[in-house]
Amino acid sequence: MDKPSVIDKEDLNKLIAKLNQQGYKTIGPTIRGEAIVYDRISSIEDLPEGWTDEQGPGHYRIKKRNDKALFGFNVSPHSWKQFLHPPEKKLWTAEKNGSSFKIIPEELENPKFAFIGVRSCELHAIAIQDKVFIQGPHIDSVYQINRKDLFTVAVNCGQAGGTCFCVSMQTGPKVNSEFDLALTEVLEKDKHYFVVETGSDRAQSIIENLDLRTAENQELKIAEEIIDNTAQNMGRFLDTEGIKETLFENLEHPRWEEVANRCLSCANCTMACPTCFCSTVEDVTDITGDHAERWQKWDSCFTMDFTYIHGGHVRNSTKSQYRQWMTHKLASWIDQFDSSGCVGCGRCITWCPVGIDLTEEVAAIRKSDKTKIDNI
Ligand code: SF4
Ligand code: SF4
Repeated sequence: MDKPSVIDKEDLNKLIAKLNQQGYKTIGPTIRGEAIVYDRISSIEDLPEGWTDEQGPGHYRIKKRNDKALFGFNVSPHSWKQFLHPPEKKLWTAEKNGSSFKIIPEELENPKFAFIGVRSCELHAIAIQDKVFIQGPHIDSVYQINRKDLFTVAVNCGQAGGTCFCVSMQTGPKVNSEFDLALTEVLEKDKHYFVVETGSDRAQSIIENLDLRTAENQELKIAEEIIDNTAQNMGRFLDTEGIKETLFENLEHPRWEEVANRCLSCANCTMACPTCFCSTVEDVTDITGDHAERWQKWDSCFTMDFTYIHGGHVRNSTKSQYRQWMTHKLASWIDQFDSSGCVGCGRCITWCPVGIDLTEEVAAIRKSDKTKIDNI
């Protein structure tokens, strides 16, 4: 790829306008309901200029920064999953026709998304969901069409969040996976600019007529320092060494009972997680019985119905649900998809109403690893 270039803050509007002209629906961070969420944006005026987020276990708030950074926060409560794998989608409609009925499949439209401000951990999460939905034997046609023309404008993180641990998961903070454009936001004295890396040919054609200039070595050095500083200030750490074996060998560890006493089985962690992909289907009919619909909806390993099979629930305790969730994320996912199911975004920690922190849970299990203690 070419040497990185530089775009000034104001010229970012030209990038968004160009994407819109080419038919992309631009989605980016914006403020709504006292949170920084991802939603439709049409210019940089929609971005959360001068705002940051404060995240901790069971804690989230936005607050003013003392500068005008556009991406000076960490991750949004909702991930990009909501656009590629929507929480609810109608699969088909059935219409009664005399003594028969007709199935009408849902028509799918390519939304041609351009995501602005995707973090490195979030790119990794999208790559994980790609494996689940479009790279396996069963293709999810809704995900496939939503993902088809996705254009990603990634952002290297300029600060570490209180619950982030992407360094432990090797998923950030520097964008190191597939992207179209990757920006590093630099604010120094009276300058506000972005160092831009190009990751695809179509991105090259998008930026061709914008006012970009080649980055100077000093600007590249500053950008690298910003990312290094983020990496050195992670909010959390997760020791992943032999994690699969440790969790599998400790399925009867007393910590599962202890965490179950705190866990509310609310499923927030799975809803907020950018890689969780489980869903259920529901059929609904109208009062006449002439019209029925089948809907696919996000589901969670924390709901009782999720494991109901004739006659009972496979996981009927909070202990078994939490253990399933964490061992799938951090252990059996590796066998299933050849990677961890966790990208270290920290959402499950921030959005757990009782502040359960999977990095703490793993550390507690390691500290009194039953197999190691039994072997002493
Ligand atoms: S398990 Fe938690 S930290 Fe890991 S990707 Fe999911 S929400 Fe993020
Ligand atoms: S770990 Fe927290 S967020 Fe997840 S189900 Fe339990 S209480 Fe809810």
